[in-house]
Amino acid sequence: MTQPKWFTDGFPHIWLPYSQMKTALPPLAAKSTQGCTITLADGRELVDGIASWWTACHGYNHPHVSQAIKDQVDVMPHVMFGGLNHEPALKLAKRLSDMLPGDLNRVFYVDSGSVSVEVAMKMSIQYWINKGQKGRSKFVSFKDGYHGDTLGCMSIADPEEGMHHVFNDVLFDQFVVDVPRSQNQLKEFDTFLAKHKGEIAAVITEPLVQGAGGMKMFSPDVLKSMCDTARKHDILFIVDEIFTGFGRTGTMFAIDQADIVPDIICLSKALSAGMLPLACAVARDHIFEAFLSDSFDDALQHGPTYMANPLACAAANASLDLFDKEPRLEQVQQINRKLRNALTPMQSIKGVRDIRILGAIGVVQVWDIKDSNWLKERFIEEGVWLRPFRDIIYMTPAFTISDDELDKLTGAMARVLTQWSKL
Ligand SMILES: *Cc1c(COP(=O)(O)O)cnc(C)c1O
Repeated sequence: MTQPKWFTDGFPHIWLPYSQMKTALPPLAAKSTQGCTITLADGRELVDGIASWWTACHGYNHPHVSQAIKDQVDVMPHVMFGGLNHEPALKLAKRLSDMLPGDLNRVFYVDSGSVSVEVAMKMSIQYWINKGQKGRSKFVSFKDGYHGDTLGCMSIADPEEGMHHVFNDVLFDQFVVDVPRSQNQLKEFDTFLAKHKGEIAAVITEPLVQGAGGMKMFSPDVLKSMCDTARKHDILFIVDEIFTGFGRTGTMFAIDQADIVPDIICLSKALSAGMLPLACAVARDHIFEAFLSDSFDDALQHGPTYMANPLACAAANASLDLFDKEPRLEQVQQINRKLRNALTPMQSIKGVRDIRILGAIGVVQVWDIKDSNWLKERFIEEGVWLRPFRDIIYMTPAFTISDDELDKLTGAMARVLTQWSKL
């Protein structure tokens, strides 16, 4: 295929994410998007099974979200958030507070998921400092977890399985423990927290699904017992709902299934419907109140240049309108049923290790991916956009995907995996 001139001119100047640039397949030249379709510069069309890293929950170019951005761009595309506030950000903060359980009432805006996790970590550390409890600066996180790519976030990822082990020597020392799935593990978790609580600021987890760490899942009961155990030892509990938030697991937030109120929740990805970068850390009242005093030292020490970007907040408000007006959670249930029907039989394909399905997430885990470039290329030949990583091939489509499009994705997956099993 001949590439457009902008591609051949520009590609030598690009450094790709998480790619061995020597051996990685060259990326495809994307020209436009619409609904669940990505159109390439050479005219080929792909049905998207990933929704651009789980962000584009209403599909691409949803007219309501696009229009909100267009309207906002003429009024005020951006203004600094220091000393100035604006309607899109305050409206969104109120809506998020109303949607989230309990007194998760204070929204701190940032521009990426990783930074929202950094902020949640800084909030927790400074919370204890402000409370006069010295030495509580470490975090307990979980194996197979992923929380972003900045140094603080890398330090709470799985040090063995994670993508960051090259940096192990420079990362902050944290406690990365097993997800307490069994009674025994829960007891160990409890004992661990009891022993180290004087050093621990917070426990942090992705609720129900550990996304980029390999789409590992655990039950609402496990999530609830993690939270209860942290509480029992007077340790803060942070949930990173950057992947799971906004319907992906079947409820608006994954924590809704465990009926818990974390001290801080991190949101991003589908927050702004895959249109513009936006994230936030939302804190409970008692966290916020710990920063109120007559000393500037007690104030939260953070403030990104592009925080609360009005265009991104307008997109997020428009996205929430769609959750209000359209049956998104029912659509997730429908996708869930279809994924169950289509993916469960793939368990019998040779080399398949596990099938996991939750909400609008469908995962096929294999014993050995063998040749992931082969898989990637075959999916493109089939006209679908699916990107295997590590040992999984997964689907996280837009909630608005049609039955035909979903059939195309699952059909391609079955065909390609059957061929792959004979490699
Ligand atoms: C994507 C993701 C992040 C990081 O967000 P970025 O916007 O890429 O910085 C953090 N935590 C989870 C659970 C994620 O899925």
